[in-house]
Amino acid sequence: MIIRNGKVVLKNSVEQKDILIANGKIAKIADSIPANGDKEIDAKGLYVFPGLIDMHVHLRDPGYEYKEDIESGSKAAVKGGFTQICCMPNTAPIMDNKVVVSYVKHRAQEVGLCKVHPIGAITKGEKGEQLADIGEMKKAGAVAISDDGVSVKSSRLMRLAMEYASGFGVKCLCHCEDKELVDGGVCNEGLSSTIAGLKGIPRAAEDICIARDIALAESLDVPVHICHVSTHSGVRLIRDAKRAGVKVTAETCPHYFAVTDEIITSFDTNTKVNPPIREEIDKQAILQGLKDGTLDCIVTDHAPHHINDKNVEYNQAAFGISGIETSFGFAVTYLYKTGVLSLNELADRMSYAPAKILGLDGGEIKEGGVADLTLADLDEKWVVDPANFISKGKNNPFKGMELSGVVKYTLVDGDVKYEA
Ligand SMILES: [Zn+2]
Repeated sequence: MIIRNGKVVLKNSVEQKDILIANGKIAKIADSIPANGDKEIDAKGLYVFPGLIDMHVHLRDPGYEYKEDIESGSKAAVKGGFTQICCMPNTAPIMDNKVVVSYVKHRAQEVGLCKVHPIGAITKGEKGEQLADIGEMKKAGAVAISDDGVSVKSSRLMRLAMEYASGFGVKCLCHCEDKELVDGGVCNEGLSSTIAGLKGIPRAAEDICIARDIALAESLDVPVHICHVSTHSGVRLIRDAKRAGVKVTAETCPHYFAVTDEIITSFDTNTKVNPPIREEIDKQAILQGLKDGTLDCIVTDHAPHHINDKNVEYNQAAFGISGIETSFGFAVTYLYKTGVLSLNELADRMSYAPAKILGLDGGEIKEGGVADLTLADLDEKWVVDPANFISKGKNNPFKGMELSGVVKYTLVDGDVKYEA
């Protein structure tokens, strides 16, 4: 296959090039490649990105297939431009052993759309009591470990987990939340929570755990990755740690860099997410953190829910946003169009960096590299309507928002897996 006339987002430049794909790899990148009778895609007016990678999604399968399953989640992912996704272990049963890890891998291969990499649990049943068998899960295909959804409360256990994980060459992805400080909170603690009369979650609930996990990583001299950073103070902790040489990486999500907690005063339960959407000072720090690389990558924390999980009063509603189909549009609209990130930086945060953090193949358009590609029109505008989502989760609070950036083709190993 030849992709013609696209503006190709390379590591350090954007150049109009033709791309020849053979055997799932990028065989050649050149100004002009002669026709050879193969299929061609005319990418005139489109940008060609390295296949987007989302290292933090919830596919709900096994156990909660009424919220999402591997097939619906994969379809939503390729529509969102993602060629590789990593799924969190808070399924039922919890993905804390090789059987569940193998099931997810095999089911994803049957579905055959994007590459799905399972993330094993840190502790058995995500109960925070006993370490799961990390080596066994890694052998079965887990690319990292996390108890996402809850924090590992015991610092001793977290230390052990980091030590073992590093021995097996996988990273701990830390969901940072001090449950006692959260104390039943449902949104950010601030002016908006006061106006809404909802119980707030202080930044410190997140920051304390970020600081702890950085301290553990520093003392062991092992890598650690901080999930879904939402606070300005968390960004500062990570920046300082990086400067001091701690092997810490971090991610954030579109809802933290695009909006503020004022949206909760609508009482739309789809705005309820953990950690909560914070204030302007946090949003600005997240943007700065993405710009200077303190925050390495953008993830969706795609958390699909059934309508019944959200169609209740705010205090009772489930936490989470279904965001895998809106993430790229958010990044283009709020990071690229506003001048926060260049296209090369955008490709880094959404593809190269997550590949590097987890040691995945891909993340860069280069000769000999894997032909995972995302082709998009960055000027075309569209309006978010969750009713049109492919994901089973329609829980997205941004209905009616106009975004720029439409994914036109998603190619995995050189095969077109999505075409608009
Ligand atoms: Zn989480």
